[in-house]
Amino acid sequence: MNFLEERILKDGVVKEGNVLKVDSFLNHQMDIELFDKMGEEFKRRFAEKPVNKILTIEASGIGIACMAARHFRVPVIFAKKTQSINLDGDMYVAEVESFTHKCKNNVIVSKKFLNEEDQVLIIDDFLANGCALQGMIQITQMAGATVSGIGIAIEKGFQSGGRIIRNLGFQLESLAIVESMDVKSGAIKFREQS
Ligand code: 5GP
Repeated sequence: MNFLEERILKDGVVKEGNVLKVDSFLNHQMDIELFDKMGEEFKRRFAEKPVNKILTIEASGIGIACMAARHFRVPVIFAKKTQSINLDGDMYVAEVESFTHKCKNNVIVSKKFLNEEDQVLIIDDFLANGCALQGMIQITQMAGATVSGIGIAIEKGFQSGGRIIRNLGFQLESLAIVESMDVKSGAIKFREQS
């Protein structure tokens, strides 16, 4: 079991609706030592890949992306979410359905910060159905940039996102993959990873 899986077992709480609550160390209060270790591990897993930018989505991805960026020594771009947007031609915009908030958001990145020369590592906190990731992949591709890889802290392996994204041919690395979780007992099982 790795350091993140251990922490999830210690402090994660299984909620109704397939939600894993990790707000004491990842989503609200943030354990920066843990984030730093995650960044180091992403660097190890993507050591062979060219990466000159990290792309994430606000809000929960930002902290992890920033700590990862220290290991890659590259800037972080976070896609912004907004209800009303000014489509003035200077933005890449993709529509994303939120798993936790059950609503649709446009996610936006300024054209100033992403172009066809960029080799992008996409980072996020959770992977559920893959909508957030598909939005970021779309934005990267709209810019003509390359997705070098995708790093996720916690993948819920019993939801479809991981399979969809891997089937698209991307290198997707999730530090913890939850195979099953039980709201009654609170039990959490992880997928074995080499
Ligand atoms: P997806 O777009 O893959 O369906 O969902 C990914 C996004 O939803 C993540 O960025 C994350 O913020 C949120 N999310 C999905 N499932 C969970 C969960 O079980 N717990 C928490 N805390 N956030 C989740």
